[in-house]
Amino acid sequence: ICLFLPHSLGEKMCTRMNDKYKQRHMWKILSQVDTEEKDSGTESCAPDFSTVYAHDLLPANNGEECTKHFLQEVVDILLNYIRRMFDRESKVLDFHYPHQLLDGLEGFSLELSDEPEPLEQILVDCQDTLKYGVKTGHPRFFNQLSTGLDLIGLVGEWLTATANTNMFTYEIAPVFIVMEDILLKKMYTMIGWPVGEADGIFSPGGTVSNLYSLQVARYKYFPEVKNKGMAALPNLVLFTSEHSHYSIKKAAAVLGIGTDNVILVKCNERGKMIPEDLEAKILEAKSKGFVPLYVNATAGTTVYGAFDPLNDIADICEKNKLWMHVDAAWGGGLLMSRKHSVKLEGIERANSVTWNPHKMMGVPLQCSAILVREKGLLQACNQMNAGYLFQTDKQYDISYDTGDKTIQCGRHVDVFKFWLMWKSKGSSGFEQQINRCLELANYFYKTLKNREGFELVFDGEPEHTNVCFWYIPPNLRGIPKGPERSRLLHQVAPRIKARMMEEGTTMVGYQPHGDKVNFFRMVFSNPASKKCDADFLICEIERLGDKL
Ligand SMILES: *Cc1c(COP(=O)(O)O)cnc(C)c1O
Repeated sequence: ICLFLPHSLGEKMCTRMNDKYKQRHMWKILSQVDTEEKDSGTESCAPDFSTVYAHDLLPANNGEECTKHFLQEVVDILLNYIRRMFDRESKVLDFHYPHQLLDGLEGFSLELSDEPEPLEQILVDCQDTLKYGVKTGHPRFFNQLSTGLDLIGLVGEWLTATANTNMFTYEIAPVFIVMEDILLKKMYTMIGWPVGEADGIFSPGGTVSNLYSLQVARYKYFPEVKNKGMAALPNLVLFTSEHSHYSIKKAAAVLGIGTDNVILVKCNERGKMIPEDLEAKILEAKSKGFVPLYVNATAGTTVYGAFDPLNDIADICEKNKLWMHVDAAWGGGLLMSRKHSVKLEGIERANSVTWNPHKMMGVPLQCSAILVREKGLLQACNQMNAGYLFQTDKQYDISYDTGDKTIQCGRHVDVFKFWLMWKSKGSSGFEQQINRCLELANYFYKTLKNREGFELVFDGEPEHTNVCFWYIPPNLRGIPKGPERSRLLHQVAPRIKARMMEEGTTMVGYQPHGDKVNFFRMVFSNPASKKCDADFLICEIERLGDKL
């Protein structure tokens, strides 16, 4: 074996180095033997990474060759990972418990030392980090609402990291600031707002976007809150459905409104807010002396994928002069589809909208926007005029210094990958991608409906890509519905999930909801998933759950 080693790898490799070094190089060397002539030239000048350190890379003298080879190695590792990720035969995850990761696995130590490690070790660490992670782009990964790996999005992230700048001023992010403006305008258009009158900003996720919506609503009605604080305000209450995302409650906690002042509105059996209950609860709160401020309607609930009746809710908000927010973190992507956007009818009447392109549109994490119907509110609400960043005597249009609209100072560039993806597929490409996911959900629903041992949590075709269901193991099928069956059924999903994690063949989420015991939630947002993957999940649940 040692005879095959390029001289630069040295004898150290055969003696001191761990097996992974050898494996990595053996693989390379063997593949090199195959393509002898082609590779021999490049490999001979590749540095020996076991003796090369980070300080030998650029900008070090002669660092360019070394950097080039190092980056090529990294690309090889990533490409290998990507190849395996899209390979249905490969596992979705290689599960280990936290103590195993802490103790170190097969030479993969997470401990940090005082001494630098050579680049060879850095490469192995990159490989191991991917090895023990979860392949969220795998066609059989259904665990989250953000799935898939869009290669153009990936390139967007690489470029963003290379540019390594901050979104607070035009001065240091000229191109990205203009791209953000262009994307926001596209999003206003999809919602149906006049482009010149709306406002928005990209934020670190739907939770933060929802926080902005409540903060801006409060400022609109009570601008004194900015200086005087909550003590100057009456007892505010807000309304959201019992199926809405928990970030609405969190926003109330963060903003000092308090979770007790979040009033939960009832939903129908499909998880849609019941407008009559909203109206009744608003009247009730008023009669008790509270001041209703804000209603959150959800377009695409996290678990059921339900769309609240936006027009009915808008009527109630108009009548009672309340701020209407639409949390379309999950459902916003459907606006890209001419076929499915009707489900969000009425969204144009909202005062603010949350929309996460990192979910249904498949943009790499994170990418979320808060969109506000009235221009200027975000700025008025948040600006602090820090003199060292937002000088007013700059020689360009300072409305492009958008940083003071935010509750952050520095802000990550989340727009480039989104912009690049849009360029690469056009709005029609997003439309097709989303339509296909919805077709797949429909296929999955129909398959389950006719399958013995499966029970849907609610009936009717899915509106979004969520399909919620129970698996009833053979032993449970004879037991009549009642508390005993529910008690047993509650344990089924967690047990199947635990086995699924150990086997690592697929991943899907489960949860209880309201009076419903633990059930699985299937969601489709990965363009790589196909019917065979949906079928696989069903068979896998049967296989893992059959003996329960
Ligand atoms: C996912 C989700 C959120 C939160 O978005 P993050 O980006 O995870 O913070 C908010 N609302 C709904 C309806 C969601 O599905």
